[in-house]
Amino acid sequence: MYEYDYLIVGAGLYGSVMAHELNKAGKRCIVIEKRDHIAGNIYCEEMEGIHVHKYGAHIFHTSNQKIWDYMQQFAEFNQYINSPIAIYKEELYNLPFNMNTFHKMWGVRTPHEAKKMIQTQIAESGIKDPQNLEEQAISLVGKDIYEKLIKGYTQKQWGRECTELPAFIIKRLPVRFTYDNNYFNDRYQGIPMGGYTTLIQNMLDQIEVRTGVDFFEFKKTNPTIARQTIFTGMLDQYFDYRLGALEYRSVRFETEVLDCENYQGNAVVNYTDIEVPYTRIIEHKHFEYGTQEKTVISREYSSEWKKGMEPYYPVNDEKNMQLYEKYKKLAEQEKDVIFGGRLGSYKYYDMDKVVEAALDQVGKLL
Ligand code: UDP
Repeated sequence: MYEYDYLIVGAGLYGSVMAHELNKAGKRCIVIEKRDHIAGNIYCEEMEGIHVHKYGAHIFHTSNQKIWDYMQQFAEFNQYINSPIAIYKEELYNLPFNMNTFHKMWGVRTPHEAKKMIQTQIAESGIKDPQNLEEQAISLVGKDIYEKLIKGYTQKQWGRECTELPAFIIKRLPVRFTYDNNYFNDRYQGIPMGGYTTLIQNMLDQIEVRTGVDFFEFKKTNPTIARQTIFTGMLDQYFDYRLGALEYRSVRFETEVLDCENYQGNAVVNYTDIEVPYTRIIEHKHFEYGTQEKTVISREYSSEWKKGMEPYYPVNDEKNMQLYEKYKKLAEQEKDVIFGGRLGSYKYYDMDKVVEAALDQVGKLL
């Protein structure tokens, strides 16, 4: 007899949705988490009354009404709309690429003029069938925007030349011929009031959670604690890197409390030239329209992941995807283990897609 039906490894968004749903269906669940807190990378730490996104800024957005409605059970969401600013040397631009950006870049005022400018630059580049991120970017917005707003930022974030990166990364970003600075095209968007940690807390309300527990140690002493395991950690680590290590990007955050009420006037400011060593500065209070006397900012420095660091972004290039496919075959042979989430499925996932994947998986299990 097993003590639990499910051992869920990782109290991030994927694991917490799974735990919530399986528990609701009457399954006995236990969640273990390596860190000393729940909520994975959406964890918020309170500083000066501000919810600080400790492992990077997260903005919930989705076009899937079912997922949006699902999330409302756990938190009320505010009306935050992400409208980042990009700074290139002394110049300041609106993101995503829209008429405000084009006006600032070229002085054009109409969509027709902007399109003509971009078309000319695409024609000059001679790119017909984009094969990598650089070619994809130039095909979308022309050379000027690529050089000033994409090239340096992308190279810093991924530590690779844009010609060595897959095109899909840049397809995440909308290009618009309207004066609309909303970063996302999705129907629904917002930040959970009270912060993400409270949201996850609400999901895990009825569930036994043990933090500060390393799965690989735990399994040695508890080999038969549950009928099935849901593993949301790193897929390659689960198999002891036996086929080699998958590559990840890590991020180092330099977080500072400043004795000023408003430092940069926006939650997200990207620094797109290669000379500035960080990719962006987040001013956390602006996600929730904070009026505190002080402010908290985080500079983000991107780096190659090494053992002992936090893995943030899977590097979904060809080489890593081939290795991932091999690990996936091994994973399929582990009949009692389900792999999921950003690390378990080695996927550059948005939060809504994580929730969707978890709900799909629960559907298959029940
Ligand atoms: N990107 C860019 N310039 C910017 C912002 C983004 O070139 O100012 C590119 C970059 O290649 C990045 C990708 O767009 O990796 C996706 O950016 P997003 O903001 O979606 O990344 P995330 O928020 O997931 O870190």
